[in-house]
Amino acid sequence: MASNARLDHRNPLVFDTHELGRRPGALQRLTREIDAPGDLGIQGVVEVPEGAPMELGLRLESVMEGVLVTGTARATAKGECVRCLEPVELELEADFQELFSYPDADDRGRVIAEPGDDAEDDEDRLFIEDGLIDLEPVLRDAVVLALPMQPVCQEDCPGLCSECGARLADDPDHHHDAVDIRWAALQGLAGTMSDGEKDEMSGAEAGVDEKQEK
Ligand SMILES: [Zn+2]
Ligand SMILES: [Zn+2]
Repeated sequence: MASNARLDHRNPLVFDTHELGRRPGALQRLTREIDAPGDLGIQGVVEVPEGAPMELGLRLESVMEGVLVTGTARATAKGECVRCLEPVELELEADFQELFSYPDADDRGRVIAEPGDDAEDDEDRLFIEDGLIDLEPVLRDAVVLALPMQPVCQEDCPGLCSECGARLADDPDHHHDAVDIRWAALQGLAGTMSDGEKDEMSGAEAGVDEKQEK
């Protein structure tokens, strides 16, 4: 129940709204370079690697019930093509807008219930705590929404050959004929036969060579 750990202003995803004051209409723009937090993206599919540089552009606007945060996050996400499994890098640009409410915003003087008591109602609501806002949950949702569920290296990636696993984008003419396999067997047979002949012949030739040298 007491999951309300105090926000730490040193956390790069925590922003201070004190400067805005509680004057509706007051506006503040800011940018911040941060190291991406862990597990940012769609796990095992495409993610912003932990510690990767990330640029946040924010607009904080004071409104009646709280602070409206509008922003964009930019970073490079990494994953692999779902068709050919090649590594993929994506320039991510995730937009978000979220209202952070004053804890007492909706009850005008009435003391609101403990957050744990009506957790279901308030689960999706975000609050300003001691003048601070935590952008992390907003950023996580925005990044997941902005990333493709099925990243591809190129729109028309043809994927892998179902027979040999070759990457078809590297070799557009790649194909297998059913006959190929039989040919390969015949060629293999022909190869062993000529090898045998060569051995005999080279032995004979060697003898001839010796005679010629003398
Ligand atoms: Zn691909
Ligand atoms: Zn193949």
